Order: sequence, then structure tokens, then C-alpha cells
Amino acid sequence: MKKREFKTESKRVLDLMINSIYTNKEIFLRELISNASDAIDKLYYLSLTDKKIKVDRKEFKIRIDIDEDKRTLTITDNGCGMTEEELENNLGTIAESGSLHFKEENKDQNDVNVIGQFGVGFYSAFMVSDKVTVESKSYLEEKATIWESSGVEGYTLSSSTKKDVGTIITLHIKEDTEDYKYSDLLTEYKIRSIVKKYSDYISYPIVMEVSNSRKKEDSDEYETYKEVVTINSMVPLWKKDKKKIKAEEYNNFYMDKFYDYEQPLKVMHFNMEGNVNFTALLYIPSHAPYDYYSKEYEKGLQLYTNGVLIMDKCSDLLPDYFSFVRGVIDTEDIPLNISRETLQEDKNLKLIAKNIESHIKKELLELLNKDRESYEKFYKAFGMGLKFGIYNDYGMNKDKIKDLIMFYSSKEEKLVTLKEYVERMKKDEENIYYASGESLAKVSMLPQVEKIKDNHEVLYLVDYVDEFAVMTLHEYEGKHFVNVSNENTDLSTKEEKEQVNKENTDNKDMLSKMKEILKEEVSSVKFTSKLKNHPVCLTTEGEISTSMEKVINAMPSDEKIKANTVLEINVNHKISNKLKEIYKKDMEEFTKYTKIIYFEARLIEGLPIDNPTEISNLMCDIMAK
Ligand code: ADP
Repeated sequence: MKKREFKTESKRVLDLMINSIYTNKEIFLRELISNASDAIDKLYYLSLTDKKIKVDRKEFKIRIDIDEDKRTLTITDNGCGMTEEELENNLGTIAESGSLHFKEENKDQNDVNVIGQFGVGFYSAFMVSDKVTVESKSYLEEKATIWESSGVEGYTLSSSTKKDVGTIITLHIKEDTEDYKYSDLLTEYKIRSIVKKYSDYISYPIVMEVSNSRKKEDSDEYETYKEVVTINSMVPLWKKDKKKIKAEEYNNFYMDKFYDYEQPLKVMHFNMEGNVNFTALLYIPSHAPYDYYSKEYEKGLQLYTNGVLIMDKCSDLLPDYFSFVRGVIDTEDIPLNISRETLQEDKNLKLIAKNIESHIKKELLELLNKDRESYEKFYKAFGMGLKFGIYNDYGMNKDKIKDLIMFYSSKEEKLVTLKEYVERMKKDEENIYYASGESLAKVSMLPQVEKIKDNHEVLYLVDYVDEFAVMTLHEYEGKHFVNVSNENTDLSTKEEKEQVNKENTDNKDMLSKMKEILKEEVSSVKFTSKLKNHPVCLTTEGEISTSMEKVINAMPSDEKIKANTVLEINVNHKISNKLKEIYKKDMEEFTKYTKIIYFEARLIEGLPIDNPTEISNLMCDIMAK
């Protein structure tokens, strides 16, 4: 017999399970049955391509046995089984990626989240057992192995005489406590109801020996007898009649299958008949998985043909911008033993994908129109991905997504769609105004936003992808996007403009001098009437804004770009006259003022300052005067 210790992270998860305050302990059975079903799926799937593996689909089953005297519950399957090495790797450690993340990000999370998010399925057995034995024979090995553990101390491995391929998991059920009557788990009734509740749809028979009673022959007396019956209906949820499915069933199925601890935000269950036939059961999660915005996240739907799982994450079924959708597709129109390569080229698969995409879009629009609150919740979780979808592939898909995106509106003080913005526009207006920055608070305080928002709705762009998305869209219903921080954006009246032009001409020398002092930092310096109370702002000429400069330069590339900036000074602010005055009197002082003003403008834009000590010295010089 070999003794082993659990890996550190596994110990922590195990400890959580053993001392779990999690009330829904009965889900352990769902987890074990789901593993058994996966193992059968796997063996069947392998047998389709490997002639050496001989199986009879009719023989597949999962068996549950109760032994009240020994206080054991046994779950037996004839799936693929595990080799000794697999027993160690699969049951001795929790999945690498999960455990790493668990370590870094979830120190404070409670155990409920842990159960759901990391698929620590098997360990949930320890919520109800004080000892767990796994006896398994893999289709790959002649010998069989017994894995046994009584908790965090570790586990043992020993050899077994098991002859047929598959796995037997025996749980030694805990003694009753004040909080939980574990003995219930040793009753037929309880087990049947748990199976019915969580595992009814499992596509293999779950069998159990149950007691029945019948009338004795030639007598009025009754006798009890035992018989083995199938306790699940085996109809996959998506094949059931929609009208007969309760919301709870949809939700449980989702949480079980996709390891989510929260209910989904939306369920989509539909059939398609025509050029291609399929059934879809799709879900929109109510929150983004922890790895959603990372390279590790794998999109895809489970693909079944005729009730048999042929691919766990078929990525070709979903466009990237809808990668948050989880679910199942079942079709007769794709052959069972198709290879991954041929699948990608399959005409029917492409048709299905197209259908799914338009269905998801339709449902999202409906959610947007009928249940704004849920849509906003969805958008907060997945909106970034939609905006990337607009910008990616050179804007190829922008028209499909543009009605789904939202930005914060200065006027409504909430997220609004582009359609809503355009509908509110006055007749003769041409532009959709936006301003970008790091946060709503910062954008709303930009000097150039202050005046414009008195008369116009301004969209605040705060995600780094936003401006790129807007630039890719270019226009919406013929209305062009205009950056408030662009030098050209000036909504001053004709009189105001004339006044500013005059000031700019009259003070040409002074403004050129300022540009000379600031060197290549700015393209030009000028007076402006676009500001209300603030003294200065920094705008940009051309396509590249300062926010884009920040984003692009933060990317890991050698190519750095620079926005063409213009320093604009509020013509109606006291500082304008002051500048004119010093320009005539004291060039040294004028130089200091120019540098400080430019510094202020950068500070407001959230741009880095190369010479903070020089500037603070200059400021103190002036203050000390
Ligand atoms: P998950 O199911 O999320 O992968 P589990 O902790 O439930 O996590 O199981 C870990 C692994 O152990 C599974 O991925 C599977 O490879 C293996 N396993 C568990 N139960 C069985 C079983 N009954 N038959 C074969 N393999 C199993």
C-alpha cells in the first residue's frame, strides 16, 4: 500500500468541504453522477474511433447502492475508469488552473463559490463522508487500483482485483449531527429525490435496488420484494417539452453542467427545423467567469449528435463577441464520428452557427427592450467583449453588434444605447459627441466637457477599447462620432468665434512664443471660447486622441505614438489677460507661466509629466513672489 499526501491547494479545498457550512450538501451526488456520466461518455466516444474498445451502448449504466448497516453509499459506473496514475493526478490535486487562481484571487471567497467555480466536484463527497474509497479499472490498464482517503491527512493507493472497466465509489456516510441528518442519505426516498432533482436528464440509466410491495398469490397479504429500477427519466433536458420544464430545472442543469454558483441571467431553449435541424439550450451567465477576459478562457458549446456528446467546447458554434454563451446543441445533421478538422468545414455546422448567432442577438435585443435592469447587468459583465467585437476583424461585424453596445450618458446619467442617443438628438444635429478618460468622474470634469454638456448629450468612454470601437463604427444612422477633445470640436456661437479669432490674431506673437517655449510638446497654442469656467485644456488634432495614445503606448510593442496636442486657453478667463501682461513685461516669468499652464493641461488629461520637480519649483517661485 502506498501512502500519499494531498497537494497543498487540495488540502485547503478538502478542508473547506469537510468543515463545510454549505447547506446544500446533497449536491455531492449530482457531482459524482455527473463524473460517472462523463466517464461513460468518454469510453463511448473513444470506442467510435478505436476499434479495439468494444462496448455495447445498451450496457452503460450508473448504479447506486445503499447499505444502511455499514453506512455506505456506493456509486458504480462502467465508464472509462482511471489508471493508478490518473487516480493520483485527478483525485490527489485539484485542477492546475483552478488551484492557481484559487490561491491568488479567492482568499476571501466562501466555500459556495469554490465548489461551483473550480469544479472541485469529486471532493464534495467529503461534505457527507468521513471516508471515501474509489476502486477503478481503466480501459488502458490490466490492473485495477483502490484509492482511499479519510480526509486531509492524505490518501492511500493499493491494488484491486476488479475485473471490468469502470469505477466504484464508496462513501462512508458521516454520523448525524445537530445540523444535518446524514442518515437521510442512506434512505431510498432521499436518494431518489436527489437524483430526480439534479440528475434526471443524465442520458444513461441510474439504477437502484428499491423495495416494493405486492399482493401475495392466492392471499390477501402483501409481501415486500426488492427490484432494480431506473430512477431517472434519461431524457436530456433540452429534449423535454419546454412547457413542462420549470425554471429551477433549467437553472440547476446550468449550474451543474457549467460549474457556476450563480443562476444564469437568461435561458434560451429552441428548436430549428429546415435546412438544418437542431435543438439548442443556451444560457447567458449572470457574471463573467474569472478567466473570461484572459487567454485561458475557452469559448464553445457542447455539441451532441443524437444525444451523444461529440465535443465539449465546439468553438466554431459561437462568434467571439458572443463567447460568453454557454450551452448545448443537439443535432442529427452532423455525423457521430466526425473529426475535429472535418467538423470545422462542415456545411451544417456553419448553418447552425449562423442560426445561433442571430437567435442570441434577437434575445439580447429583447432583453434590452423588455428588461433593462437585466440587460445592464449583462452588459456590465460582457459589454467589453461586444465592444471588442466591433473593433476586431477590421470592423467586419460592427453592424451586427452596434445596437447592443451602451455608453454612459452625461444627460441621462446612466448607460444608453446609440439608438437612444440618436432618437433624442435635435433635428438639425449632426454629431454624436463623446469624451474619453479613465473614469466617469474624470471625464465629467474635463474642461472641454463642461460647456458642451450644457446643450448636448455627451457619451463618456471609459474602457480602453471604447474609442477604438467608436472609431471603427465611424457613424451611427448617418450621425458621426465627434470627440469633444478634438481641436475642431467647437460649439461656440459665431460672435464668440469672431472674438476668439481676433484675440488669436492680435496675440499671434505671444502664442508663437508659447509654442516656442513648449517645443515639440504641442502643435500649437491658442485662445478658445469652448471652455466655460476652466482656464486651460489640451485638445488633439487629427485621428489620434490622448486616450488612444495612452492605450497604444501601454501595449507591449516598440511602436510608440504621439497625439498632436493643442494647448487651448480660455479667452474669458483672467489668466488670459495676465499672460498678455507678463508677456510684455518679463520674459523669464512668462516662460514659467507657460510651462505651468501646459503642466496643468496635461494633469487634467491624466497624461504623465516628464519634469515634475522643475514644475513644482516653478510653482513655488511664483507663489513666493
Ligand atoms: P471535474 O469533474 O470538474 O474534472 P472532479 O474533481 O469531479 O473534477 O474530477 C476530477 C477528474 O477525475 C475528472 O476530470 C475525471 O478525469 C476523473 N474522474 C472523476 N470521477 C470519475 C469516474 N467516475 N470515472 C472516471 N474518471 C473520473
